[in-house]
Amino acid sequence: MGEVKLRSKHFLSDKVSHFTESVIREMTRQAMLHGAINLAQGFPDFPAPAEIKRAAREAIAADLNQYAITWGAKSLRGAIAEQTRTFQGVAVDPETQVTVCCGSTEAMISTLLAVCNAGDEVVIFEPYYENYGPDSILSGAKPRFVKLRPPASPNGDWSFDERELRAVFHRHTKAIIVNTPNNPTGKVFSRAELELIRDLCVEFDVLAITDEIYEHIVYDGAQHISIAGLDGMTERTITINGMSKTYSVTGWRVGWTIAPPRLTDAIRKVHDFLTVGAPAPLQEAGASALSLPQSYYRKLAEGYRRRRDRLMRALEEAGFRCFRPQGAYYVMTDISGFGFADDLAFTRHLVSEVGVAAVPGSSFYRNPSDGARQVRFAFCKREETLDEAAKRLGKLRPRQGTEPGWGKALREQRIHLRTRRKTNHRKGNAG
Ligand code: PLP
Repeated sequence: MGEVKLRSKHFLSDKVSHFTESVIREMTRQAMLHGAINLAQGFPDFPAPAEIKRAAREAIAADLNQYAITWGAKSLRGAIAEQTRTFQGVAVDPETQVTVCCGSTEAMISTLLAVCNAGDEVVIFEPYYENYGPDSILSGAKPRFVKLRPPASPNGDWSFDERELRAVFHRHTKAIIVNTPNNPTGKVFSRAELELIRDLCVEFDVLAITDEIYEHIVYDGAQHISIAGLDGMTERTITINGMSKTYSVTGWRVGWTIAPPRLTDAIRKVHDFLTVGAPAPLQEAGASALSLPQSYYRKLAEGYRRRRDRLMRALEEAGFRCFRPQGAYYVMTDISGFGFADDLAFTRHLVSEVGVAAVPGSSFYRNPSDGARQVRFAFCKREETLDEAAKRLGKLRPRQGTEPGWGKALREQRIHLRTRRKTNHRKGNAG
């Protein structure tokens, strides 16, 4: 009798009923189950820098083991302000503008909870890092998605349509989330693109929430630009960053927000009630990490460039079409050449039969069919790990009669351009 009553009660929050489990974390579990190489989740399998591990040990030995100030240890906030000035030329007051959180994951949800009301809308580029959707829902806001379209040639860039972006801005828009360098596409937003976003934010009185966790991981001369540094944006930008990716310490859970004082006040309140604070000794180690010389960041990016090239070579040889990333440490690929029903069928086969775990593209889109031909691989791994993955990927066989890689796409593009030119000639508006 009692059990019947219990079952009939509505115990669960409506918000949670909209969530699915994190596909990325699920792929890690699948990798362990099948003994597969985990190129799914974005964590390094190589050691963190010795000097920052030493700094963490010393902080614990010195008994920095109690709560830090809720919005962050003074030493770390000072180092964050100094680094932002050095790399982005943006002046930050560590006393009133910085909040240290439990990873940039907490920084994002604390920010959204601090600024959103029911009925607000948050603009998100898709494909997107999977937390942004649930984060918006938890904060009561409605996500509005704008497509980033894959490049049509090997060296092209993912791009968005200006009209589509403008069309989602209106009086209920509270914020736009920008993630540059971008996960999963590897796109590094250009100054012109960020200025366009800036103009819309100013026109519609909207906040920019910018996730810059891959700031220091850029390739081929690409330059990371912080939208906070653009004219007119200081007062309406919340910049999110963290230690996870730059210092290879994803398990430490140290991230932060940089925002104008009034917004910082609100973020600090949410952060305090959610978590009280980030791990105190690891914040002290963070202050040492952020003081590493510039050469550290050059080596970091160069190491990832080598890994990117190694993995892309292996993927292309195996029959994938790769979208070359300009930043972050993922390669998005097109799997059309393999003849699987969709990305889920493909990644299931890959993890259980080939022994490599990757993330199905559909998990980065609101509408799963948009990602049904895409799969993401992480290359934040030792070169031996990538070589073993390459060996296993060699077992894949492109479907008979299909042409892997870029060949077919480029030919189709050439035909499309020729047809368009001919049509334009006929219309008398060549060029
Ligand atoms: N933001 C992006 C774009 C990410 O890719 C990730 C992790 O993969 C995170 C945030 C999570 O960062 P953190 O470890 O600081 O919570």
